[in-house]
Amino acid sequence: MRQGVGTQRENDDADVIVVGAGPAGSTAAYYLAVAGLDVLVLEKTAFPREKVCGDGFTPRSVRELVAMGVPMREEDGWIRNKGLRVYGGGHRIELPWPETDSFPSYGVSRTRKDFDDTLARHAKAAGAKVVEQMNVTGPVLHERTGRVVGVTARPVDRDGRRAGDEVTYRAPVVIAADGVSARLALALGIEKNPNRPMGVAVRTYYETPRHDDEWMESWLELWDGKPGESNLLPGYGWIFGLGDGTANVGLGSVSSRATATKIDYKDLLQRWVANTPAEWGFTPENQRGPVRSAALPMGFNRKPHYTRGLLLVGDSGGMVSPFNGEGIAYAMQAARRAAEVVAQANSRTTAAERERTLASYPRVMAEELGGYYSLGRVFVKLIEHPEVMRVCTRYGLPRPALMRLTLKLLSDVWEPRGGDLSDRFIAALTRIAPAA
Ligand SMILES: Cc1cc2nc3c(=O)[nH]c(=O)nc-3n(C[C@H](O)[C@H](O)[C@H](O)COP(=O)(O)OP(=O)(O)OC[C@H]3O[C@@H](n4cnc5c(N)ncnc54)[C@H](O)[C@@H]3O)c2cc1C
Repeated sequence: MRQGVGTQRENDDADVIVVGAGPAGSTAAYYLAVAGLDVLVLEKTAFPREKVCGDGFTPRSVRELVAMGVPMREEDGWIRNKGLRVYGGGHRIELPWPETDSFPSYGVSRTRKDFDDTLARHAKAAGAKVVEQMNVTGPVLHERTGRVVGVTARPVDRDGRRAGDEVTYRAPVVIAADGVSARLALALGIEKNPNRPMGVAVRTYYETPRHDDEWMESWLELWDGKPGESNLLPGYGWIFGLGDGTANVGLGSVSSRATATKIDYKDLLQRWVANTPAEWGFTPENQRGPVRSAALPMGFNRKPHYTRGLLLVGDSGGMVSPFNGEGIAYAMQAARRAAEVVAQANSRTTAAERERTLASYPRVMAEELGGYYSLGRVFVKLIEHPEVMRVCTRYGLPRPALMRLTLKLLSDVWEPRGGDLSDRFIAALTRIAPAA
C-alpha cells in the first residue's frame, strides 16, 4: 500500500493531482511537495515549449519566485528591469518600481519557453512527479457523491496527437491549473461569467538593438483605425527586452464583458510596429517566430474556485489582473494559497473537516484579491470610453506623483502594511471595494 500523509486511499495514485504545469500548476506542485504530499502533475505538452505571453515579470512575480527559491541569475537568462517607461498623449515618462518592504524593486523578463520549463523542474526537484505529454480529458466523478476523485487522460505525442490508450489517475483532490481552456472546470459546469472583463493579446519576437533595455516599455495609444482619427482602445502595446538579442513585442486590449470584438489584433500589431522608429528593427526580416494571440480571463471570471474536490488556480479561475493583463504573479499566488489549503485539509482526520478546509479556498482568494479585482472591473469600464483614455493619457502622464500612484495601483506593487500616503490610499480602496 502507498503511504500518503493523510487522505490518500489504497487505490489512489497520489494525494493530489495537478492538471497543467504552467506557472499555476508548477507552483502548486512545488508547495505541495515541500509540505510532504504525493503530487502528480499531468501536462499535455513536452518541455521546453512555447506559451503565448509577454514574458514580463513585475516585482509581484519576482516576489513569488524568491519565495520559492528559484535562482534568477543573469547568466541563466533572467534579465532585470528597473521600472516602466510609458508613452502616451505625446508624453514619455519613466517610472521606477516602487521601493517597498514587501516587494523587490526590480522586475525580470524571461521567455515562457525557458520559464515554464525551469519552474516545472523546480517542482520536480522538490519531489513532485511531473508526467509530460499527458492530455487530461476529464474528471472522474464518484458515482454517488459526484465528487472529483481523479481524472482521465490520454498520452499524446509532441504534436498533441493521440499516442496511447486512455488512462485513469485517482486522488482525493484535484487542482485545475489547465489555463484559459478551463477544461476541468467546464466539465463540472463552471462557466465563465460573461459580465467579467476579458482581454485579448498578441505577441511576436523581433531581433532588435533594444533587447537589453533596462525598462519595460508600454505604449498607451492603440488606435482602432488611423492614429488620431479613430478611437483609442483600452489597452497597451509593450516592448519587453529579453537580453538575448530579441524583444517580446505585443499588444493587448480589454473589454468589460466577454464579448467577441471585431478587432483584428494581428493587423493592429503590424500597424503599430510599422510606425516605430526604423532603428528598432521591427521589420519582417527581423521577426523571430509567428504572431500569436490568446485570451486573458480576468477579475475572477470563473467561479466558484472550489467545488466537489476541485480547486481552480490561475487562468482556469480567471485570475488575470484587469488593471494590466498580468497573470503569472496571480497564478503563482493562488497556487501557493491553494497548496496551503490542500496541505491543511490533508492533515485533518475526518472527511467533514477536510471538506470544510478545502471549501475555505475561495474565501482566501476573495480576501486576497477580491476587492482589488472589483476595483479593476470599475477601471476597465472607465477606460472603455475613448474620451476617458484620452484625458487620462494627456493630463495624467505629465503628473509624476499621480503616475507613481497609478503605477502602484495598476501593477499591484504597493505596501499593504504602512507605507506612504499612496500605499494607504490604495489599501483603503481595496478594503472598501466589495469582493464580488
Ligand atoms: C499575449 C499574452 C501576453 C501576456 N503577457 C503577460 C506578461 O507579460 N506577464 C504576465 O504576468 N502575464 C502575461 N499574460 C498572462 C499569462 O500568460 C497567464 O496569466 C499565465 O500563463 C497563467 O498561468 P496558468 O498556469 O494559470 O496557465 P497556463 O500558463 O496557460 O498553463 C496551463 C498549462 O496547462 C496545460 N494544459 C492545458 N490543458 C491541459 C490538459 N487538458 N491536460 C494537461 N495539461 C493541460 C497547458 O499545456 C499549460 O502548460 C499574457 C497572456 C497573453 C495571452
